[in-house]
Amino acid sequence: MKKITILLVLSLSIPFAIVLASHKKNDKPAPTMSAEKTNTPENMPENFDWKHQGKDFWKKRLTQKQFSVCRQGGTERAFTGVYNSFKEEGTFTCSSCGLELFSSKTKFDSGTGWPSFWEAIKENVELKEDNSWFMKRTEVVCKRCGAHLGHVFDDGPAPTGKRFCINSVCLGFKAHAHTTPKK
Ligand SMILES: [Zn+2]
Repeated sequence: MKKITILLVLSLSIPFAIVLASHKKNDKPAPTMSAEKTNTPENMPENFDWKHQGKDFWKKRLTQKQFSVCRQGGTERAFTGVYNSFKEEGTFTCSSCGLELFSSKTKFDSGTGWPSFWEAIKENVELKEDNSWFMKRTEVVCKRCGAHLGHVFDDGPAPTGKRFCINSVCLGFKAHAHTTPKK
């Protein structure tokens, strides 16, 4: 009689355990995107076609804010971005695809509320004429993935006289391994 009870309990509990385990597995939440999420190219194949990805790809990869600014040409509110008054030494990358875009050596405080640079890593950005909002401006775009980054103006400091006005959400940051003392 005892044996039968044990067997019965066992035979009943095993499927229950299996159901529980599989339920747990299905319930596992998808990894959430944090606001700091930047996408490094390291985990993507080298010849990945960044330029021809659809909305769904970017929506999964980026935060909502990143998507609306970098993929739909929006603008973040001034003085809200993490890199506006950021002074560390390193390289600013594209938050969409990880391409290196600006050196911290060319960053300056423009007082506009957006990270500003007097030069870009030329081979990695593209400049496009932008006539939206009844203004004639030059849009700055990531050459690899086509992300909208911001605009460039002719009122910057020496030596170039350019002011690349860039949205923080379109940027990531790679610190230099050996940082030199700040001025
Ligand atoms: Zn990019």
